[in-house]
Amino acid sequence: MSDRDDTFTLYDLRVEVVATDRPMVCNHREGDYFELSGENLSMPTGQTFPIYPLAAILPLLPAKQRETEPNDWMTTDMDIACPDSNCGGLFRITRTGKRTFRHGEVTLVPLRTADA
Ligand SMILES: [Zn+2]
Repeated sequence: MSDRDDTFTLYDLRVEVVATDRPMVCNHREGDYFELSGENLSMPTGQTFPIYPLAAILPLLPAKQRETEPNDWMTTDMDIACPDSNCGGLFRITRTGKRTFRHGEVTLVPLRTADA
């Protein structure tokens, strides 16, 4: 174990169901949400979240967890449409805070040394 600083920062995320003027078809209700911290997804006790919209949202989350450039659409766009084209539900991804992690605690792959 090195004394080298191996910390990095990720955003904590909240993904919340937002209603539109179209009815929601899937089993998600306005205000339902889940949160992501590092690799851990959590949701309120007893609440469920349908797998089809979850599958559509998941690929975006690692990018949203990381710092992005101000002009990048990933920075500005936060509403994801439900993949069911008949469903009016949106999923709003909000960065709720920053959390610090240590490289050595999340992977066994060593950091490269400065002269590598
Ligand atoms: Zn839906």
